[in-house]
Amino acid sequence: MADDSGITACPHCGTRNRVPAAAKGLPRCGRCKELLPWLTEATDADFAEVVAESALPVLVDLWAPWCGPCRMVAPGVAKAAEVFAGRLKVVKVNVDIAQSTAVRYQAQSIPLLLLLDRGAVRARQVGAVPTDAVLRWVDQSLALPAAA
Ligand SMILES: [Zn+2]
Repeated sequence: MADDSGITACPHCGTRNRVPAAAKGLPRCGRCKELLPWLTEATDADFAEVVAESALPVLVDLWAPWCGPCRMVAPGVAKAAEVFAGRLKVVKVNVDIAQSTAVRYQAQSIPLLLLLDRGAVRARQVGAVPTDAVLRWVDQSLALPAAA
């Protein structure tokens, strides 16, 4: 899990690693070299760098602190970062802060999950769903042909 300081505990050995919001290549554990879950955050200011320019497909979780269903979907979003490590980057976007991004992706209802590939939306999922449904949705969305 990432906390506010961008520290992710390695699921394989427990070592705490600092994972950047944007980077070339994939985040790996400094100790055991296994792939780390890539769970980070973006605002309007760094959305392009963190999400649109990502070489990996990105699961964007548009959420807000006051939104109860957002808290329900959060464990599934975090789990997706772990299960799809190396194939998916997960970016949480607080719509209270990132208001332009919320407007751009029509986040009238949250939680809104987006699967983006090089900035193009491949799939949308609105509302709280259990963890296994989040994982299934991500798996299916990753299998869709890339947007033209
Ligand atoms: Zn490790």
